[in-house]
Amino acid sequence: MDLRDRLLVQVSTRDVYDAVALAGHPGSGLVFTGQAAHDAVRMVRRNGYDGPLLADRRRYAGSARVRGTARLSADWIADQVEAGATAPLTDSGYIGKRDHEALHAILEQAIQWEGAIAVLPVHPRWVAEDRPVLVRTITDYGTPVALVVEDGPPYRPLPLPLLSAGVAALGALAHGAEWAAIGVREVLRHLYPEPHEVRGGWRRGGARSAFVPERLDFVPVERLGEGTCGCSTCHGRPLRHLARAEEIEVNSHNAKVLHRLHNRLLRATHRERWWWELRDATLTA
Ligand SMILES: [Zn+2]
Repeated sequence: MDLRDRLLVQVSTRDVYDAVALAGHPGSGLVFTGQAAHDAVRMVRRNGYDGPLLADRRRYAGSARVRGTARLSADWIADQVEAGATAPLTDSGYIGKRDHEALHAILEQAIQWEGAIAVLPVHPRWVAEDRPVLVRTITDYGTPVALVVEDGPPYRPLPLPLLSAGVAALGALAHGAEWAAIGVREVLRHLYPEPHEVRGGWRRGGARSAFVPERLDFVPVERLGEGTCGCSTCHGRPLRHLARAEEIEVNSHNAKVLHRLHNRLLRATHRERWWWELRDATLTA
């Protein structure tokens, strides 16, 4: 099974019971997140899910994140293979601004495992000013990679797979990335700089956001407008109905509208142009 052209849904391990419902359509797949992600992969596989499955340990995020020079775990790779992951991901630490040592340490270790994907969680400078060095280094090692880009200024999409992304996942696919993963909830769509302040404080029920195709972005459910949605979750109702909906309903709306956009992308004769036209249309809307 390969990952080509897949738009994956990135979920927490605790979402394991709902996950398959969000990734049932062709062209999709799942990334489980956290220390027990390989257990979720095993469980979903045993239950007969035959789409792509990945496990992202995410040691690179949070206040206790490790630096990219940390030793990568061979057991973590073996556990994923044994669980039935499509390809094992490295349990990389974070690659800070100009931390060449960390970048090389991850790639150097990853090449020893055939078929493993080197996870590269990078400071935003790596996809802006230092982009040529990043691309050259990745090309030199020749090992498959997946980027996680820390929150920062907008950047031009790279033709490289993305984990824990928002709508940038579609941008990456449009620019030739083999696959990309969109997080099902806010925290899985970002890599926050550390230390970070939680904006807006703690909201009851968590920060649920719905994808609004006209805005090409996720909008907190409390701020949804009058627009209607024709997906098979919303049935033509105004999107605002999601403010009172269960999280699974919001997420299945998200999965459906993103799947529809993904299909349009795959049918486009010129994907990059399709992406920029879509961006322009939503920015001027
Ligand atoms: Zn909908």
